[in-house]
Amino acid sequence: MPQAVAYAIDSPTGRFARTTITRREPGPTEVVLDIAYAGICHSDIHTARGEWGSGVRYPLVPGHEIAGVVREVGSAVTKFAVGDRAGVGCFVDSCGECASCRGGEEQFCQGPGGTVMTYNSTGRDGLTTAGGYSTSITVEQDYVCRIPEAIDLASAAPLLCAGITMYAPLRRWGAGPGKRVAIVGMGGLGHMGVQIAAAMGAEVAVISQTRSKEADGLRLGASEYYATSEPDTWKSLRNSFDLIITTVSGALDPAVLLASLTVGGTLVDVGLPEHPVELNLRSLIGGRRNFAGSMIGGIAETQEMLDFCAEHGIGAEVEVISGEDINAAYDRVVASDVRYRFVIDTATFTA
Ligand code: NAP
Ligand code: ZN
Repeated sequence: MPQAVAYAIDSPTGRFARTTITRREPGPTEVVLDIAYAGICHSDIHTARGEWGSGVRYPLVPGHEIAGVVREVGSAVTKFAVGDRAGVGCFVDSCGECASCRGGEEQFCQGPGGTVMTYNSTGRDGLTTAGGYSTSITVEQDYVCRIPEAIDLASAAPLLCAGITMYAPLRRWGAGPGKRVAIVGMGGLGHMGVQIAAAMGAEVAVISQTRSKEADGLRLGASEYYATSEPDTWKSLRNSFDLIITTVSGALDPAVLLASLTVGGTLVDVGLPEHPVELNLRSLIGGRRNFAGSMIGGIAETQEMLDFCAEHGIGAEVEVISGEDINAAYDRVVASDVRYRFVIDTATFTA
């Protein structure tokens, strides 16, 4: 069996260390990707540190923002050739037959095994799936996306989760000309949301904790920027936005966000903080407001997002790090101190 070099963590309080993992030989319709870059998503941190509860299989190799080059293809692969630039996101398999899969929403697979996530799931070989903090991965061709030439691989990696997580709700809830959209949290997801919403033609506002990222927010396409640390911010934003997407990874009161919507406006949560939040239903009834969630996107929509980003010159702003930097990078993400996505260069694993 082929081996890959990977970085794994062995407990919620552990540290990442270099290791070797086994990858399967490609089946007839599978491709093997040489991973060039893997983004660090805040979900990797929530999972690795056990913040979403038990059910984490250690040693854990996270990573679901994967960009690389096809090294090998199975005998019946039609969608990729050796040398193609390709990406893998949050999942690597699903039943392919349920209503969700048939409707292009494989992330909500209702089949017997559900959606097989890129790490911490059981793969078709019966082994626990291991993610992108590794030098290669074997994946069924239907769960691999094409990375357009216009986006460099390091900037493309975060699109596979952060990009699609923002693109899908912006499309679904109609971000576009004449719409006032607020993105809450200017982190990995948030900075993609600003760029994508602006490219869709919406008027974009950033709502951040501080003004430290204001210049970047405006450069990436926002026309307004607000800091929640300033006392009158929420008051000044009442009834302002048609659509608000919150990416906040920590505690945030949904009542203040709902009050910032226009009548009939929609708040979409994509952030997954570890603790439940309380919601007074009055915040929905007054102003007939909507509160929804959204989770990544299907494969076809992820490809659409990649093509959209290429067409509009959009990519993630990244800080490229080595495998040895992962532990320090996790602490910096938690401290909102990343501009705006750490991307691990897997060439450093074998150097
Ligand atoms: P990130 O880079 O850490 O960004 C989160 C941002 O939230 C921070 O930059 C910060 O923005 C803001 N924030 C953090 N703590 C806060 C607090 N206590 N109060 C107010 N604002 C706070 O994380 P990410 O990778 O973008 O992920 C964000 C969240 O989305 C995570 O919970 C992650 O698990 C989840 N996620 C969900 C999906 C999905 O499909 N729904 C996909 C990927 C990730 P400022 O510095 O601007 O204040
Ligand atoms: Zn993610």
